[in-house]
Amino acid sequence: MVREETVRVGTSADGRAITAVHRWSDGATRTMLVVGSIHGDERAGERVVRRLREAPLPDGVDLWLVRTMNPDGVAADRRTNASGVDLNRNFPCHWVAAGAGTTKWSGPFAASEPETQAVMALLRQVRPRTTLVFHQPLYGVDSYRAKSMTLVRRLGRETGLPVRSFDCGGVCHGTLTDWHNTRLPGRAVTVELGRMASDDQVARVARGLLRIAIS
Ligand SMILES: [Zn+2]
Repeated sequence: MVREETVRVGTSADGRAITAVHRWSDGATRTMLVVGSIHGDERAGERVVRRLREAPLPDGVDLWLVRTMNPDGVAADRRTNASGVDLNRNFPCHWVAAGAGTTKWSGPFAASEPETQAVMALLRQVRPRTTLVFHQPLYGVDSYRAKSMTLVRRLGRETGLPVRSFDCGGVCHGTLTDWHNTRLPGRAVTVELGRMASDDQVARVARGLLRIAIS
């Protein structure tokens, strides 16, 4: 029997709820967490989340779906949160003060933003075996600082996306995946969809994630 609950995991800078849909069957141990969007103007991953919410749940899978961790950015069609912070530069791993006045501002200090804190707390509680974080438009499964190249290559095969290294234009600072991969036992991978993602591609990515979740 598949169980489902919606959990409020935090509140954005502008007061919007950050929620996760948790789907699991009794005894499920294969935990996968998916973040549909972290940059509010890169939302194609939310369509992957919607598919995963509606798909039959394979036995043994414990699925956590965060449609967006940046509801203010999504509401404004903007990369940053309501305070102008790039949440994927705000995590406390390799954090540097950078980008003030741009859409890549890392924030006043590491983990300064309520969205960052909410997702850190959720990840520490759930401790997913596998976490996927969706972006656009670079098109590929990110191998930069990969914790498991086996997983990255498998994601490439199962989703049909190329394996590529996305280095944030030099060196990445303060990203969700780097924080996760340094501080938690599981593996997190950044997945960049293209500028446009067809329904077929979104469906293929969602199916690929479920195959990886059960393996
Ligand atoms: Zn992005």
